[in-house]
Order: sequence, then structure tokens, then C-alpha cells
Amino acid sequence: MVIGTHRPTQVLVDRLAIKANIIAEKETLTDDTDIFAVIKADAYGHGLIEVAKTAKEAGVKGFCVAIIDEAIAIREAGFSEPILILGLTQSKYAPLLAENKISATVSELNWLKEASVLLKKEQSAPLSVHLALDTGMGRIGFREADPFLETINFLKGNKDVFNFEGIFTHFATADSPDDTYFKKQMAKFNKLMAVVVDRPRYVHVSNSATSLWHAACNGNLIRMGISMYGLNPSGGEVALPYELKPAMGLTSELSFVKEIHTGDSVGYGITYQAQENEWVGTIPIGYADGVFRNLQGFKLLVDGQFCEIIGRVCMDQLMVRLPYKMPNGTKVTLIGKDGNEVITAQDVATYAGTIHYEVTCALSERVPRVYL
Ligand code: PLP
Repeated sequence: MVIGTHRPTQVLVDRLAIKANIIAEKETLTDDTDIFAVIKADAYGHGLIEVAKTAKEAGVKGFCVAIIDEAIAIREAGFSEPILILGLTQSKYAPLLAENKISATVSELNWLKEASVLLKKEQSAPLSVHLALDTGMGRIGFREADPFLETINFLKGNKDVFNFEGIFTHFATADSPDDTYFKKQMAKFNKLMAVVVDRPRYVHVSNSATSLWHAACNGNLIRMGISMYGLNPSGGEVALPYELKPAMGLTSELSFVKEIHTGDSVGYGITYQAQENEWVGTIPIGYADGVFRNLQGFKLLVDGQFCEIIGRVCMDQLMVRLPYKMPNGTKVTLIGKDGNEVITAQDVATYAGTIHYEVTCALSERVPRVYL
């Protein structure tokens, strides 16, 4: 991907905010509970390696990613901390995982059987494994005690190739004010855990929401994602127990300003027509950068004043109605603060009918990340 370093459109990442969020979380935990920073999907759009460095400086003990390539990128950047892949990896890559000291999530015994053949053949170092339990998320993991126990016994019988490092589950509604389903999942987790005689190093259930609102269940490892980036996992539905500082900003500039006249149209599909003479600013950012096409009508900050996006968002540019003629180069804020006004990733998400996770992850690699 070509990065637009010569275009005045940038994602700003406030590293001090990330550190403050991690430190605030740490203060709620007992000493025997570690934090792994969840930095999958380019650290939710904030930049994989810089966030890894920042999180490590703030005291996290390891990292979680979604896919093997993200884990290898972290190793290639020189990190030696534990890395857990939260998703499933094809068993043929077991030796590659072992060679890079990357921990695998495992959901079925057959995976281990296939992997053990390859690991023995390659004479690999033991592969660290976390067993996933599906307690109600319906995604990956063991659902019944018998296959789970059989798998634990297989791990025990193959200590030369596997290091049984963890057991975990993931909650579907930890960010909801209604904890009925959460409690059901917790009960299922406890039931499945009843078959475990020797606990592995890590038993973990907490993403950000679980740790914020159900801390009593935490286990000894927090998989801290969205709260590290300073966003409320519930999007605001549930109040935060401590303050989070949003880490991401998105800024640009007016690249062209013109006056249009009553009846003139703006953008593809002529979905906007001027009702009077008005000033229009063009901004060099579009849906190829991750600004959703359905944001027509959303208000951005231009020099600290709310200005509406008029016409459809184009691939690389969008247009706004200005209160008066403003010069080229005037600062535009799509996420963040300017003067007394602020636009949050949640504001964008609400308007677009999605969640803030999608807003930050959608910002494409084309937009340079600038670290503050
Ligand atoms: N744990 C698992 C298994 C996940 O899939 C995720 C994110 O999708 C996380 C933890 C981090 O979640 P959050 O960003 O809500 O903290």
C-alpha cells in the first residue's frame, strides 16, 4: 500500500493516552494479573509496531493478535514478549508458530494431532497452546467437557511438543447493561473448568468490557483492546468506572474552496443541491481512506466549527459547506478536538450506524500515522 505522506491527511496517535489507559487499567488489577495488549488489525488502526512499543513501555506483559502474520511482524520488529493468536491458525503452520515462539489458540483435538506429527518431524521446540472454550459466543472453542478433557490429556501426554499455556473464553455481552447472558456464559465456563485438575499458566476471560464491568471474573490475564485505545466498549451505553483517553485523531485540510450558486449540485449522483449561494470546501480524504460513504450529512470541524458533508463522499475527496470563505489549508478535524468542539469515533459510528471499532479499523494504510 502506498502511504500518502505528501497529502495533509493524517491519523494522529497519542501515545501518552494509550499509556495512561493501560496504567489506569493496571491500577485496578492484582499483582498476579497480567495485561496482554490486543494489537490485531494494525492495533485497531493505530499502528501495530508503535502501539506494541508504547504498550510495552506502559507495562503490558504480552500481545494478542488475530492472525499469524501479525504475530510474525511483531517478532520481526524485535519483541520477545509472549504473543497469543486469538483466532485459529492452520495446523500446517504449527512449526512456524513454534519457531517464532507464538502461542496458538486451539479449538479441537484433531488440530493438535495434525500439529504434533509436524512438530515431531521438524523437531521443533514445544508449541505453546491456549485452549478456547465456547461458552456462548458461538465462534470457536470446545463446547463440551468430554472433548475438552480429552484434549487436555493429549497435551499432557505430549509435553515434548506442546506447552499447555492457557485456557480462555470470550463473552458476547460483557458490554451490555443486562448481565443475564454474561452470567449464563460464566456458569458454562465454570462448569467446563471443573474438569481441569492442573491449571495452566493463564486462565483468562476478560476483554476490555469484562475487565471494566465484571472484574470479579478476571482470571489472571486481561486481553486489553478497545479500552487501551481510550474508547468505551459499550459505546457509551454503560458508564466507565475510570476515565479513558481517546488515542486517535483524524485531521486534514481544505484543499480547494469555491462559491457555488443556488441550484448547483455537489458530488456523484447529484444528491446535494444548493438552496442558496454558499461556500464549499473540498477535503482530500474519502472512502478509500476509511471515511464511510454514508457520512453525507455528518458534520466535521473546519477551523473548530461544525460543517456538514454535502454530496456523497468520494473515494479520495469529500466536500463540506462552509459558513463563509475560508482559505486553502484551513485545518479540518474528522476525529478529535479543535477549540471547544470535539468529534469522537463514537459520533462517527453513531452516524454511520456502526461501532467505533469499525471506524478506527477502517482507516486505511494510505493515511499516515503520526505519533504524538
Ligand atoms: N479477546 C478476544 C478473544 C477478542 O476477539 C477480542 C477482540 O475482538 C479481544 C479480546 C479484545 O476486545 P476489546 O477490544 O473489546 O477489549
